[in-house]
Amino acid sequence: MTERIVIVGGGSGGTITANRLSEELESEIEAGKIEITVVSANPNHLYKPLYLYIPLGEAELEDTRRPLVDLVDHRVTLVYKRVTEIDTDGKSLAMDDGSELDYDYLVVGTGAIPQPEETPGLGEDEPGHHFYGPDASENLRETLANFDEGHLVLSVIGTPHVCPAAPVEFPMIVEEWFRERGVREDIEITYTYPIQRLHGVRPTAEWMVPRFEERDIETKTFFNVENVEDGTIETLEGKELDFDLMIGIPEFTASPIIEEAGLGEEWMEVDRNTLESEHAEDVWGIGDVTNLPTSKAGSVAHYASGTLVSRIASEVRDQVPTATFHGKTICFIEAGTEEGTFIEFAYDREPVVRDENRFLHWSKLGYNEAYWLTARGVM
Ligand SMILES: Cc1cc2nc3c(=O)[nH]c(=O)nc-3n(C[C@H](O)[C@H](O)[C@H](O)COP(=O)(O)OP(=O)(O)OC[C@H]3O[C@@H](n4cnc5c(N)ncnc54)[C@H](O)[C@@H]3O)c2cc1C
Repeated sequence: MTERIVIVGGGSGGTITANRLSEELESEIEAGKIEITVVSANPNHLYKPLYLYIPLGEAELEDTRRPLVDLVDHRVTLVYKRVTEIDTDGKSLAMDDGSELDYDYLVVGTGAIPQPEETPGLGEDEPGHHFYGPDASENLRETLANFDEGHLVLSVIGTPHVCPAAPVEFPMIVEEWFRERGVREDIEITYTYPIQRLHGVRPTAEWMVPRFEERDIETKTFFNVENVEDGTIETLEGKELDFDLMIGIPEFTASPIIEEAGLGEEWMEVDRNTLESEHAEDVWGIGDVTNLPTSKAGSVAHYASGTLVSRIASEVRDQVPTATFHGKTICFIEAGTEEGTFIEFAYDREPVVRDENRFLHWSKLGYNEAYWLTARGVM
């Protein structure tokens, strides 16, 4: 009998897992014992870290996407449909076209969905911009190109935010970008964060303080954006801040199918070491959709996929799964347009941010090119 492994999501987690699994289970697939299917609402794979560069004209939308069919191993079946329901008792998925797909093993990698509309005044045709989607980052490019004086405010609205680094990087990159264009003296920059320090990860917050001071980037903490009116941000704490250009890091949620399937209340609840669902048999989570106690970053999905593939392969082979995930996370951080650094941590290893240098900036740019090999499961 053929057993079906179904992976929902063709993002970083789903794609890397599919490619590594098809490699690992090559002989079982060839013998007709295993079938692997990826179900994705989007026929393209999106490399979202490039959204950071689009507003500055340093990346194009075409650079961010590749057809899944060009990235995913030929042994994997691709289904371009949206999953509307997960029935973990009946081991079946319902799709937006009314069809159903049964599974024996299920991997959920549906990501974290930006919710700018949760903040009045943020999003398309609103005074507040963001760069967490293709259209939003392109709109911001147009606005930024015409911005040569006034007050730019970057506000982190929701936590956890996808990618711990992007909100830190953007003010430092744009500050240098304004200097390069000779307009920095006419622009004031303010960064706001909802808790009492500049970032949820304490060493990142500590690293930011002198760097933001050096660059004359104003900061405000305990700043919880409630709404964005024309020219003014109002906060839950009753503060007001005037702006000429506002960029928000929006709130994020999991797809509603997670809660509806009983897989978690806010995020998909998984064991932090085995990635198994806390609520259903033969179901695993990968990437931003999970409640893993680490960052919502592509690197986490990448490292976790190794554990996932090994555990699923053991299950398929009736062996005891032994691989465990220890929360390995690495994120590059751009410190302007010329230098960069990275932060690294794990469940039992405190985050460390090193001093920035040119080599690490070029490493980040190099990785942005090499990412497509990661997606293929090669590195
Ligand atoms: C601006 C920005 C900068 C970033 N920078 C970095 C960085 O420097 N380093 C880093 O490590 N990470 C970075 N990230 C984060 C990284 O992009 C994410 O952590 C990563 O994409 C998570 O992968 P994922 O597979 O969990 O989710 P995603 O990549 O979001 O993929 C989710 C997939 O699920 C599909 N899907 C969703 N719902 C359904 C459904 N109901 N049915 C079928 N398919 C569905 C989607 O179509 C998509 O294919 C950044 C993100 C952004 C936005």
